Amino acid sequence: MLDYTPKEYVNRSGLVINPAKTCQPVGAMYAALGIHKCLPHSHGSQGCCAYHRKFLTRNFRDPVMASTSSFTEGAAVFGGGSNLKTSIKNVFTIYNPDVIAVHTTCLSETIGDDIPTYVAQSNVPEGKVVIHANTPSYTGSHITGFSNMVLGMVKYLSQNNDNPNGKVNIIPGFVNPADMREIKRMLKEMGIGFIMFPDTSGVLDTPLTGKYEMYPKGGTRVEDIIDSGNSMATFGLGSFSSADGAFQLEKKCKVSPKILKTPIGIKATDEFLMAVSSITGKEIPEEIEEERGQVIDIMCDCHYHYEGKKVAISGDPDIVIALTEFALSLGMIPKYVLTGTPGESFDREVKSMLDEAGIEAKVKSGADLFTLHQWMKNEPVDILLGTTHAKYIALAEDVPFVRIGFPILDRSVHSYMPIVGYKGAMRVIEMISNALLDRQDRDAADEDVELIM
Ligand code: SF4
Repeated sequence: MLDYTPKEYVNRSGLVINPAKTCQPVGAMYAALGIHKCLPHSHGSQGCCAYHRKFLTRNFRDPVMASTSSFTEGAAVFGGGSNLKTSIKNVFTIYNPDVIAVHTTCLSETIGDDIPTYVAQSNVPEGKVVIHANTPSYTGSHITGFSNMVLGMVKYLSQNNDNPNGKVNIIPGFVNPADMREIKRMLKEMGIGFIMFPDTSGVLDTPLTGKYEMYPKGGTRVEDIIDSGNSMATFGLGSFSSADGAFQLEKKCKVSPKILKTPIGIKATDEFLMAVSSITGKEIPEEIEEERGQVIDIMCDCHYHYEGKKVAISGDPDIVIALTEFALSLGMIPKYVLTGTPGESFDREVKSMLDEAGIEAKVKSGADLFTLHQWMKNEPVDILLGTTHAKYIALAEDVPFVRIGFPILDRSVHSYMPIVGYKGAMRVIEMISNALLDRQDRDAADEDVELIM
């Protein structure tokens, strides 16, 4: 394959080549889909909305519904107020959602549209809700957009009415529907009452029934998001996508926040389960302990596949931070750790883990895949973990590759298979082991051919 990436490091400040992120509204739209009977609404041009829907549809292989304010030149000059008010009227009349979740786009942000005022001037039917999040794509990434929409849910909906519900809130972060299902399964096995929001399970992983449902049965009910203000604590899983919502719940409703890593790998899953156990007083049941024991057994059985292997990890910050910790638990050597989402806390957190392990590595937030490619050209690694976009580096450098994170556009089924919890840890080990073994098998076959010749 053609490879235009030079080995010499090019220091760039004003140019991104092969971004390791996408735009804020993609994350906002994904979060909004995690509310039951919610129609995400893109306040901008049709092209933006089409791109965001297509991107999510390609990843999840399920139809993604969203409406748009359909900006034309007039809206660009005079503002999008009348477009939004007409949209709200039409969407409630024609598509009848319970919630419209408006997110902005680059154009509406540049114009400076005042969404709360436009919503206040709109006709919102009794019992229906409009929420919004500002998602300018010239800052942050789809993870920022996800976080902003979660923040919007809390700001508009959560309420403390002095009626404790005995539950915990779970903000799962930008993970697959299967991961949300897995977190819920563990909590149910522990007998813990919870409110998870957003929750895209049952929305983007629905069974084929032959009947089209515009609003599938999944997603968090509005009444539950309102009730999240009465919970005993909020667990924000992954600081980049969940911390802002958790802290807003504390500020607005006095629900204490606990920010943890996305529970990928043994250590992060242990910490999550012990934290919910300690706050709720519920024991971790034998079934879950058994799963943990299985992971430890698998780690012992397979350690020689990956122990001491150099790994490059790229993707979204919460996933990459947790994967780096897991790679260290497996005895691997993270050489390059990179995310496209800007945020110095990423560099600090990853560097501190690597320093503790005595590993020298390159770590960068707000980075692009061109940088990762240059690093790998200068000093190769044994395996690369990343999203679909990283596959071109793996192909060019002939490195074993594991697709993990968002987006994965060139493979199916991944969104139905969890990578969180102990079950997810087994899957991550399987993917890493198999990728490395496939390479060994290929090299062995090549040697056999050489011997024969
Ligand atoms: S114009 Fe902005 S919001 Fe629209 S698709 Fe492009 S980056 Fe995303």
